[in-house]
Amino acid sequence: MMRGAYPYDPTMAYRPARTRPGPWTQHAKCVGSNPDLFYPGRGDNRTVHAAKTICHACPVRSECADHALTNGEKYGVWGGLSELDRRRVRGHKRWVA
Ligand code: SF4
Repeated sequence: MMRGAYPYDPTMAYRPARTRPGPWTQHAKCVGSNPDLFYPGRGDNRTVHAAKTICHACPVRSECADHALTNGEKYGVWGGLSELDRRRVRGHKRWVA
């Protein structure tokens, strides 16, 4: 997702195919949303919360979160997980393994 592009396109068609999200994106609740909502600035917890609210009603939330964790997405809100949330999950997985 290019920051500032509008409307939000979760298929990220501009990306190389190997890192592009799968066909589940056609059911994404965030389609057409303002992309700035899903790529908030550092410390912008209000915007993170607004994005998470959309994610929590999304039917492909688990696929989205799995994609982000599998592909090491560093930026944005994916599957209801913020950048900090994903770092915590990755840290926990390393600790458990
Ligand atoms: S979980 Fe959130 S970011 Fe992922 S597709 Fe659904 S609405 Fe979009």
